[in-house]
Amino acid sequence: MYLDADGEEIFGPDYQPQSAPEKGLPLYIGRPNAGISPPENLLLLPQESLRQNSQVWSLPTEDSQRQFPGDVPILRDVRKGFQTWQMPRLTPNRRLPAPPSDPDAVMKVHYVYVGQGAGAIVELPCGVAVVDLGGEYGGGDGSVDGGALFVDYLKGFMQQHPGYDNKIDVVYLSHPHSDHINGARQLRESGLRVEKVVDNGQTSDKGPVGRQTAFRSWATDNDLAHRYTAVELARQVTATGATNAAIDPFSCATVTAFWGGVNERLSFKPYSTPNNHSVVVRFDFGQASFLFMGDLQDTAAKDMLEQFDENTEVFDVDVLQLAHHGADNGINDDLLKVVSPRIAVVSMGDKTSMGTSSARGYGHPRLESLTVLQDDPVTVTDMRSSPHSYWGYSHSNVDPSSYTVRRAIYGTGWEGTIVVTASQSGQYTVETGQSH
Ligand SMILES: [Zn+2]
Repeated sequence: MYLDADGEEIFGPDYQPQSAPEKGLPLYIGRPNAGISPPENLLLLPQESLRQNSQVWSLPTEDSQRQFPGDVPILRDVRKGFQTWQMPRLTPNRRLPAPPSDPDAVMKVHYVYVGQGAGAIVELPCGVAVVDLGGEYGGGDGSVDGGALFVDYLKGFMQQHPGYDNKIDVVYLSHPHSDHINGARQLRESGLRVEKVVDNGQTSDKGPVGRQTAFRSWATDNDLAHRYTAVELARQVTATGATNAAIDPFSCATVTAFWGGVNERLSFKPYSTPNNHSVVVRFDFGQASFLFMGDLQDTAAKDMLEQFDENTEVFDVDVLQLAHHGADNGINDDLLKVVSPRIAVVSMGDKTSMGTSSARGYGHPRLESLTVLQDDPVTVTDMRSSPHSYWGYSHSNVDPSSYTVRRAIYGTGWEGTIVVTASQSGQYTVETGQSH
């Protein structure tokens, strides 16, 4: 196993997951929505056109020459490479969501406390999604099992909502790191059913990528062609993101993917870390909007912003799950300015865990990240009703420092499970669980 300076697993020379041979459902342009509208002059290409011209995506084979994204044309340049007459017309594969029949309908996102890691439940009037399957395992004394925490919460949720019939419409795995996939085993044993799976397409028969590969096979009952989608950057050519019936199986909301697996050659920085291959998805529900960033780090966030530089408003949402648990490398100032969230949520562990994969072990969240969110520059626009003293880290493996939170920044390691309720008109309420 290869680790980076922060102790996170990276791809090494003898651990090279392949791109999934079965891509699942074809990707389509992200559906125009309240916050996502394609510029009129935008060239939209189907993935097959790109595949046929895929030499533009090949990277130098020599390690010393590998760089990203300098060697890879950004999508805008790829689109420019096509003559207008070559542009096949794209047909969005799904109708737009119906106007809300019930203006009082709400959606909720449950950011579940899973120790150091991430796992969220998106509760819609028309279905349920899961974004990552937390979480921390060990805690130094074996006391933390984030995967069990997540799946226990999910089972309780399903018992309280029998109308969902114990069925999850779609599970999005942002990337195959343990803190995002540890609950896969408990989910398989839970009796709950999964209808569709979206992941970054990385495939292996071992390690965490092997767990992702096995999960997708189990959850879809090996019907990858109809119940699965690999979100890979090389398959996306629009500036509106991508969607299809796996990414967005919902009639009452819109889901769009912006980022995922970048390339099959993974041993070059900064893409040696699985974090930078995180699936990034956005939910729209009436005027309400949520963005899930996985563990995308600042360099990849910058590249992502560049890919969408004609249409950066696709990232302008109200509720942001902060990338990479509030790590210093999870902050990209330019992206945060575009997102300009009203509310930011950090999924991280409790400060009492002494495990190597704990919030303390990684130093999440970093004080400097919190400072960017509420001080310099101010990126989170809503305020808490009153300031509250929590904590953050100056480095990994040091004692936490107290930190006063004034803006609408919430942390699962501070407050336990966080539930954000959103109305169709874009009104939000935030409830926090028991302190850990
Ligand atoms: Zn993580």
